[in-house]
Amino acid sequence: MARPVYCDICGRLYSSSYVGAHKRLAHRMDKSAADRIVALFKGLSIDERKKVLEKLTSITQPGA
Ligand SMILES: [Zn+2]
Repeated sequence: MARPVYCDICGRLYSSSYVGAHKRLAHRMDKSAADRIVALFKGLSIDERKKVLEKLTSITQPGA
């Protein structure tokens, strides 16, 4: 039975049986460095994620 799941790229809700096809169709053009970074990020521990987020924040919000 198909369950609703969020597309991890655009955040929209799709059935679990369709989201894979949706990603290939809707996001094939933006298979990007960002996607790879997110995939790597998901493999990190909680502490590592915090460190990465702090670095990203320092890059995107200089002086914050
Ligand atoms: Zn999507």
